[in-house]
Amino acid sequence: MAAGEGAETIVIGAGIVGLMVARALLKDGRNVTVLERGEPGHGASFGNAGVLAFPEVLPLASMDSLKQAPKWLFDPLGPLSVRPAYALKIAPWLFRFFRSAGKTSYDAALAAQSHLMRLAEMEMDAALAETGLSVFVKRVGALDLFESEAAFRAAQHEWTLRGQAGFEGRPLTGAELAEAQPGLNPRFTHGMLFEKGRQVQNPYELTAALAQWLAGEGVSVRKGEVARIEARQGEGGATVILAGGERLAASALVIAGGAWSKPLAASLGDSLPLDTERGYNTTLPRPNVDLKRQLYFGGHGFVASPLADGAVRIGGAVEFAGLDLAPNFARSKAMLKKAKAFLPGLSDEGGTEWMGFRPSMPDSLPVIGRSRASRDIVYAFGHGHLGLTQSAGTGRLVADLLTGREPAIDVSPFRPGRFSKSS
Ligand SMILES: Cc1cc2nc3c(=O)[nH]c(=O)nc-3n(C[C@H](O)[C@H](O)[C@H](O)COP(=O)(O)OP(=O)(O)OC[C@H]3O[C@@H](n4cnc5c(N)ncnc54)[C@H](O)[C@@H]3O)c2cc1C
Repeated sequence: MAAGEGAETIVIGAGIVGLMVARALLKDGRNVTVLERGEPGHGASFGNAGVLAFPEVLPLASMDSLKQAPKWLFDPLGPLSVRPAYALKIAPWLFRFFRSAGKTSYDAALAAQSHLMRLAEMEMDAALAETGLSVFVKRVGALDLFESEAAFRAAQHEWTLRGQAGFEGRPLTGAELAEAQPGLNPRFTHGMLFEKGRQVQNPYELTAALAQWLAGEGVSVRKGEVARIEARQGEGGATVILAGGERLAASALVIAGGAWSKPLAASLGDSLPLDTERGYNTTLPRPNVDLKRQLYFGGHGFVASPLADGAVRIGGAVEFAGLDLAPNFARSKAMLKKAKAFLPGLSDEGGTEWMGFRPSMPDSLPVIGRSRASRDIVYAFGHGHLGLTQSAGTGRLVADLLTGREPAIDVSPFRPGRFSKSS
């Protein structure tokens, strides 16, 4: 029998989503194999900002984004850019993004995201406690910053919506704001503190430690690049075909390949509008600034996050350039330059630049649901800016679907076929 053959359940992808899915399946008593073509945690889960951003329930596909987009697109190193070489390819995705910003779609996505975030918070707490990985997480909250009272007031409706979803913020000005982040440039006059925001000290280390914990619990995390998948008719389950031709049998299969999941779903007959929003950052090991919590520089589209051992990570923004074009690290440098003005004294000595591929759907919602080819094949990708935050919640929903339990929340907003005409 080939290695892995007969494994009850195969999960493709050892990013934070695939590994949290594996944990949920293990809890259900399944025999689980995780297939990863590289090293666990070296995809988008490697260098992200590390925020458990449960209050971030507002879909990015919104009228606000549409209003800001022209201004942002005008600056090639600004918060949003499209590489000319990728402009035609991303056009259908952008068209769907614009359509998703309409009121009916926006309200539906907001409701779905709010439900998922409440579940995600609960499941993350349970997962961290069970695995002993809560040592990687600090409950420091997150602070959104504004450069005028007008900008703060303009965002008022966002606070209301987040509050309705169960994530209240606390407005800060003057001495309270200065205390929340000492040394901050006084151009930031207003802030909103979300105490429920939490900071992962090092997202890669958390992911790698989860892989190790799973291995200790009997999950096989093995190397293998999946070329395609066949649904098994009659007997159910799936056959996974690796790049070298090896065939692995699974009674159930989960695709959690992040931004690279599209061709895998296509091999099962599902054509999904998954693309990537590339993000950039710089990690500063000796920043010379004591960052108290994540700072979000709203008008500029990037964040500063406090990591383990006093390190700080500066970055974010969105670049549409697909999976193959070379990185443009001028983007991380531009954000770092701004951050040095916002946090005077910030030192970039020894900084490391990184680019990651966010797996993104046009309506800002992940794909969590069964493939059209088989009830035994479930998708878990497309979490965009929020994959770390929603990973444990996604694991719970995938386990519910594969076991045939009533899912913990309504999963219909996340169904794979939501963009197809027949859906
Ligand atoms: C700059 C930046 C900042 C971010 N900040 C945050 C944040 O603060 N909070 C938050 O919640 N999210 C954040 N995100 C988003 C988050 O990083 C992603 O949503 C999340 O990591 C996606 O996890 P994943 O497991 O789906 O994908 P990945 O981590 O990319 O993992 C997918 C894995 O699948 C493997 N794979 C793919 N195809 C195959 C195949 N055919 N065969 C075998 N293996 C395969 C890949 O090698 C990879 O290891 C950020 C992203 C970026 C880029």
